[in-house]
Amino acid sequence: MSGYKEMSKEQLLHEKDMLEQKFKEVQDRNLKLDMSRGKPSAAQLNLSNGMMDVLNSTSDMVCESGVDCRNYGVMDGIPEARKLLADMSEVPEKNILIYGNSSLNVMFDTVARAMVMGVCGHTPWSKLDKPVKFLCPVPGYDRHFGITEFFGIEMINVPLLPTGPDMDMVEELVSSDPYIKGIWCVPKYSNPTGNSYSDETVLRFAHLKPAAPDFRIFWDNAYSIHHLYDDDQDVILELLSECEKAGNPDLVYKFISTSKVSFPGSGIAAMAASEANLADARRYMNYQTIGHDKLNQLRHVRFFKDMDGMHEHMKKHAAILRPKFEAVLSVLDKELGGLEIGSWSRPKGGYFISFDAMPGCAKAIVAKAKEAGVIMTKAGATYPYGKDPQDSNIRIAPSFPTPEELAAAAEVFVLSVKLVSIDKILENK
Ligand code: PMP
Repeated sequence: MSGYKEMSKEQLLHEKDMLEQKFKEVQDRNLKLDMSRGKPSAAQLNLSNGMMDVLNSTSDMVCESGVDCRNYGVMDGIPEARKLLADMSEVPEKNILIYGNSSLNVMFDTVARAMVMGVCGHTPWSKLDKPVKFLCPVPGYDRHFGITEFFGIEMINVPLLPTGPDMDMVEELVSSDPYIKGIWCVPKYSNPTGNSYSDETVLRFAHLKPAAPDFRIFWDNAYSIHHLYDDDQDVILELLSECEKAGNPDLVYKFISTSKVSFPGSGIAAMAASEANLADARRYMNYQTIGHDKLNQLRHVRFFKDMDGMHEHMKKHAAILRPKFEAVLSVLDKELGGLEIGSWSRPKGGYFISFDAMPGCAKAIVAKAKEAGVIMTKAGATYPYGKDPQDSNIRIAPSFPTPEELAAAAEVFVLSVKLVSIDKILENK
């Protein structure tokens, strides 16, 4: 089929009639489908049910260092969990600090600490004469932007290229403005594009020369081992060691969790950073808690044992997720290929497909899909303040519905894209 833009007004109106008829038919199916949030499906959660059996009333609940995990204490996390999460983060154990059940929570706390207490002895961000700023690679993760918006931190969009954030822009801004204190990064299988940062990008991050001594890279490696394919996986350079080599050991906070490995909301979260940064975090943590959930830490280590165990487990997740991504991609390819009304990512891992519609169409497409019972992530959510300047990006989350539901939802989505795009093109004919 030729591109919609090349069609005459009459041809477009004819196509629109036909599509509206189809749309009515799907509306009559009273679908109720949700492609809005990156949640694992029940089948994926079942993979970790064995974790409920590794600790029971007869289990030995003493960790490697002899501490009874049922009681208070061990602020940094039990040694075997530190080892597991350090391996997952690709850092030495001295560089890991175990937290509670959510890495987003750790990120929030880290920003809160910087606002109230300052970073490593520097003036608290909230006490400066002007609001501080964060760089936000876009499209990006809405909850990152939510944290910085909550604290009144000004957000600056930086385009996310196939190689990672536009580093020319990052270097220029970070080296010239001391009020720029951070950047949000999802370096591997990014939310939502699925891109992974190139080696050059990681090295340029390690060699940044920020104007602010308390500038930090917020490196959220949420999808570090979340590959879809066995034989085609992205590998990224490990940033903390590259920062050390570059003489910038304190430049990065790395965040990680087992949310999409075991149970979201009931996993283990950790921060990996230099010893100076971890000491800074501990000073705050000592007032915050008398220790995180060590039974959960023990449960995770007894279940996964080591990184080999985790990688094997992730292959089972991939076997469930892969057909879902493929179901959506095949509908997009078949129905939208060649029409020149949108482009989409082909991730090798992570949880999302990113769709770019014609400018000015994303909100209308999401609203249209809703009319037929399909909930998508709110248009604009992938941008700071929920404002996509092009109104173009839509995040597709294929993990939760079944493959059959996804095929139906994708059908509604492509119909919505076609109808909205035709209206847009007709406006200019
Ligand atoms: N970071 C990113 C990039 C995510 O996509 C998600 C989950 N959607 C999270 C963090 C949340 O992680 P956690 O459950 O550890 O808070």
